Amino acid sequence: MTYKPPRTRPPGGAPPAGAAALRRANLSLVLRELREHASLSRAHIAEATGLHRATVSNLMAELLERRLVREVGVEHVGAIGRPRRAVALHGAHVGALGMEINVDYIAVHGTDLSGRALVERRVAYDAMGSGPDRAVRRLGLVAKEAVEAMRRAGAAPAGVAVAVPGLVDVARGVVTLAPNLYWHDVPLADQLATMLGAPAVPVRVENDANLAALAEYTSGVAAGTPYLVYLTGEVGVGGGIILGGELLRGADGFSGEVGHLQVDPNGARCGCGRVGCWETKVGLAALVGAAMPEQAYGLPGRPVPDPGERVADIARGLAAGDRRMTMAVAQVGEWLGLGGSILANLFNPRVIVIGGYFASLAEWLLPHAQDQLQRLMVAAPAAQCRFVASTLGFGAASRGAASMVVSRLIDDPTTIMDALPRPAPR
Ligand SMILES: [Zn+2]
Repeated sequence: MTYKPPRTRPPGGAPPAGAAALRRANLSLVLRELREHASLSRAHIAEATGLHRATVSNLMAELLERRLVREVGVEHVGAIGRPRRAVALHGAHVGALGMEINVDYIAVHGTDLSGRALVERRVAYDAMGSGPDRAVRRLGLVAKEAVEAMRRAGAAPAGVAVAVPGLVDVARGVVTLAPNLYWHDVPLADQLATMLGAPAVPVRVENDANLAALAEYTSGVAAGTPYLVYLTGEVGVGGGIILGGELLRGADGFSGEVGHLQVDPNGARCGCGRVGCWETKVGLAALVGAAMPEQAYGLPGRPVPDPGERVADIARGLAAGDRRMTMAVAQVGEWLGLGGSILANLFNPRVIVIGGYFASLAEWLLPHAQDQLQRLMVAAPAAQCRFVASTLGFGAASRGAASMVVSRLIDDPTTIMDALPRPAPR
């Protein structure tokens, strides 16, 4: 499964103006074809893309020189057919860096052009308490370390994407609002690009749930399910919505703010300033506050533990039959089912994939959530919708970020060519 971003021009529309744009589109066409197959001959590529053989040979020469494809031996066609040389997507020297900054951690997932993981790590970090300037500096340092590690693994990053829990102006790379980080109009793409320095690498910023939904759709537990909702289970709760195999973005790219659906007009104050939002019922801070109030978020003078540690503490308590924790998780499970039923009534998804901490505690949360979903979904039992636990853990958004970078690079291979040094003449 590979995610194909929407085409920038309709099929059959006018070709983009200029020879450079045409060449870019043709290079992309060839790479996309190779991405779908283990290896292909030039003749096959010409057939599949509708390009002239001479054009394909010419494009292939450039892709070979750039080491984005490699010769992989010969392909025999029929009993008496002439053997034809085949090529395959290569790009082991081209890196794609995906990152995520969240309330209490920074995650990194670096791959090469084929999606092979090169770097993967998560660093506990109090982004909520640090303010945007310090947090962006720290993000930049982690990014630099990841770039170095990728270079040591033989891949120079040709693109970076960062997942952020909030509203993102994708075109400008600006985080419009991230309530749980207390960020407002942060020009993250520009700041990070400046910190990374030369050679300039394009930086994109995206909503974390959207990227995690893409990762689920391409490589997760429900991969290929065209009607899928993904829920981040962090301190904040966001939704990534895939309908008909496409990510739903909305008019301004702000869809999926499901954590701020008001579910209790008399509820607690949310990070967004409103009251009774869904994430005040099901976010990790809500669970920690009820299950182990002595470790609640926002208590002064305490180092922020990695979310995985807090969740492991709760899982141990649940396994030991701790009564307070059992009740807290049951209540969160019911609220999870209630919010899930709103999404099911709106979008009729086949699955709701729960990520982050929801996945770690799925065995305790899901029975309550699924019961509530069945009870409140108006189309039940005719429509089937079930919660499933993500297997991508807290790394889903950074993984989705890396896969988006790969898609973008394949869409426009000249960005790789600009980012990487030209090969030495032979
Ligand atoms: Zn809210």
